[in-house]
Amino acid sequence: MTRHDIVFLKPGSQKALYGELSDFKLTGLEPPLWGAILAGFMRAKGYATALFDAEIEGWSWQEAAARVVEAGPTLAVISVSGSNPSASTMNMVGASAIARHIKEIAPTMPVAICGLHPSALPGRTCEEEHVDFVVRGEGFETLPQLVEALKAGADLAAIAGIQGLAFRDGDRTVETAMPALLDDLDTLPRPAWDLLPMERYRAHNWHCFDDITRRQPYAVLYTSLGCPFKCSFCCINALFGRNTIRYRGVDSVIDEIDYLVNTYGIRNIKIMDEMFAMNEKRVAALCDRIIERGYDLNFWAYARVNTVSPGMLAKMKRAGINWVSYGFESGSKRVINDVTKGYDTSKVMEVVRQTYDEGLHICANYIFGLPEDDFESMNETLQMMFEINAEWANIYAAMALPGSQLYTLALENRWPLPESWQAYSQYAPNSLPLPTKYLSGGQVLAFRDYAFDAYYKNPGYLNMVREKFGTQTMEYVIAMSHKKLERQHAVI
Ligand code: SF4
Repeated sequence: MTRHDIVFLKPGSQKALYGELSDFKLTGLEPPLWGAILAGFMRAKGYATALFDAEIEGWSWQEAAARVVEAGPTLAVISVSGSNPSASTMNMVGASAIARHIKEIAPTMPVAICGLHPSALPGRTCEEEHVDFVVRGEGFETLPQLVEALKAGADLAAIAGIQGLAFRDGDRTVETAMPALLDDLDTLPRPAWDLLPMERYRAHNWHCFDDITRRQPYAVLYTSLGCPFKCSFCCINALFGRNTIRYRGVDSVIDEIDYLVNTYGIRNIKIMDEMFAMNEKRVAALCDRIIERGYDLNFWAYARVNTVSPGMLAKMKRAGINWVSYGFESGSKRVINDVTKGYDTSKVMEVVRQTYDEGLHICANYIFGLPEDDFESMNETLQMMFEINAEWANIYAAMALPGSQLYTLALENRWPLPESWQAYSQYAPNSLPLPTKYLSGGQVLAFRDYAFDAYYKNPGYLNMVREKFGTQTMEYVIAMSHKKLERQHAVI
């Protein structure tokens, strides 16, 4: 076996985090974007690189650790950036177990952990996990230097000169300065998709409501990194250290789409950008180039109520962006203003109508239990959900995710937080949302589950799904809505 300079591993935790839902194949299985970006980057620098996805391989935590050790890397890196911001914290469950097993088998193998959650809590991660290093931020500056230092047998005093690290030195935790963000994303090579079993990934069920049997193959890509907004419940910028957005050039995005289509026959693509539909000129330029290609693609992408226009939506639809995901969050103006979401709630229905008029489907995101929520405001949200009648709705209970302003507030105010990283999962049996100023986390959780039932069993919703996508998809939704979640903390 080739000895590797660096091995990246995406931990698997689906069963622990999604319970029964993972068996039902409701959840998507996404290729690990950050693992692939970093693996492509390190390989292009000449390092012998491997990338493992324990989730897609179905490896147990012990097996994942054994595979990493077998690859014999100078540095093993567990990457816990998930498919959405909240997934990073939840994936600490698998990351933690795998790191522990690696150290049991190979106590001297250097192990690092990177991603959003470790970047948000570097000191705590160093102290609690069986890792030698936390890589803070993106890792482009840090990882090559760390591998070189380890190869040269450098001591911790020398390693302390590398930016973007946290590590234990005796009884103390050392955190080095954050490196500057990479200016030009086009200097990055293509993510190392070839190191992954791309034919096995599967799109979210709703993304393929037009043909629920065609969820594979599936790919993700990014056209920008970061987000300039400052919603208090959101943690995504913890990875970057500030609220900012950087764009890839249109040519490089098109080159990657060509590669995914021509190499893997990809049709379903998630645009991972936290905020894709923002700069109208850029969206139009990119969509024009995709339209020119004439591929049969089925994309989804994020947008905000205050960043889209009918012209932008029309162009997106022509490019194959069939689904747009809006963070409506709440039907209450008071709740929205409190979390600095920064959009005009009176515009919601106008934007919803424009989106439907242009032929796009909506994946709506709602959050119950934001700090200003009470039963009245949560009912307003539920009424808004019925009114929007989105083809798909992600219905969340608020969590104070590490890296978000809400997490800092929760610590300052001693609000009860989940007892484990697993309990940050919406679907785990011990899931525990944040309390609001007026309600306990258990009350919020019970209301969230009630709203989920009310929405997905609503005849107005089911009829709409049947009319747009056919009886098979409607029956699929009905079967999904009858899955009961085990809840230890719901207060009815
Ligand atoms: S707009 Fe979306 S990605 Fe940006 S900070 Fe708000 S929730 Fe996060």
